[in-house]
Amino acid sequence: MQLKQQLIEIRRRIHQHPELGFEEFETAKLIEETLRKYGIETKRLAKTGVVGLLRGNGERTIALRADMDALPIQELNQVEYASKIPGKMHACGHDVHVTCLLGAAIVLSNRRNALRGNVKFIFQPAEEAPGGAKPMIEEGVLEDPKVDVIVGGHCWPGLPAGCIEVGEGPVMAAPDVLTLKIIGKGGHGAMPHTTVDAIAVAFQVGVALQQVVSRMSDPLDPVVLTIGSISGGTAPNVIAQEVLMKGSIRSLSPETHEKLPRIIEQVVKGVTSAYGATYEMDYYNLYPPTINDPKVAQMVLKAAEKALGPGKALWSRYPSMGGEDFSYFTQKIPGAFFRIGVSDPSKQRPSYPLHSPNFDVCEDAIPAAVSVLVQIVEDYLNQ
Ligand SMILES: [Zn+2]
Ligand SMILES: [Zn+2]
Repeated sequence: MQLKQQLIEIRRRIHQHPELGFEEFETAKLIEETLRKYGIETKRLAKTGVVGLLRGNGERTIALRADMDALPIQELNQVEYASKIPGKMHACGHDVHVTCLLGAAIVLSNRRNALRGNVKFIFQPAEEAPGGAKPMIEEGVLEDPKVDVIVGGHCWPGLPAGCIEVGEGPVMAAPDVLTLKIIGKGGHGAMPHTTVDAIAVAFQVGVALQQVVSRMSDPLDPVVLTIGSISGGTAPNVIAQEVLMKGSIRSLSPETHEKLPRIIEQVVKGVTSAYGATYEMDYYNLYPPTINDPKVAQMVLKAAEKALGPGKALWSRYPSMGGEDFSYFTQKIPGAFFRIGVSDPSKQRPSYPLHSPNFDVCEDAIPAAVSVLVQIVEDYLNQ
């Protein structure tokens, strides 16, 4: 069977059987079976994570990483390979990432004698949440043999299949989670002067927090502050005692990421105290920003130019404010995260964003990404 057809079948099998973070048991089994079939030794890490090791002739080791988990979304696509599990869907393309890494493993396993070093294939669980990269690192995925450099890719709607895009420096944001409780003093809706209206204060806090982005941050150093959930109050004629607000705070530079919780608390403290309210704040650093090493990013670009031909490998100047726990790898070793074009190049099929119930890929992206991954490995190990 032709490799492309074999990979499309693998992708569709995974797509039909999506599994959420740390529940990727069937996906892990399929990965292990495929790797072993091609003589690649495997190991389980972080519950459902799999690492494959292809030993070549040399000391250096390059790692390729794919994430494995699906999302709690009901798929709306009417295709024969649509999800068979109600309420779960590979809407972020992690089925494609697993498939591309298996494709690279299959191709490289046939060329192992020519490789002047080792390749680690890292299949990581739970990227969407709570994060599988960190536990895999803690369980030694970057050791024995020690990994020198790491590369990973992500499906990118809007970029045509057969193209890839890579940039240097910060390429993905740190997605933090803010939970804020505004505490007032409840009472009768007709007598506001005897209360501290938590809803009225929450309005002010929500508006003031946008000043963190527009007036307190460097405009050339992007920050996103989204209050995505707000709840409080019980009846039209009752002044609310408490309001709960939850938000997503995203930043690109490690310096800004570090100082944001302090600035946000300063605003929350000032506004609440101005109106006689108090607050409880929890600020959770989900993942750090993903920072591409300039040399590794250039290596990916050159390999992609070779593998895909002229005009298909693009240098990106624009980071995404999305988050990725690939960042934990690039905190430890030099690495690069690139974008895999998945949109229909003829534009006949619409392109839906990641996490959409209509998300799907043009499967021509798979052989293209495999050829890029293989070229990266060969360029790095045999340079
Ligand atoms: Zn996602
Ligand atoms: Zn994703």
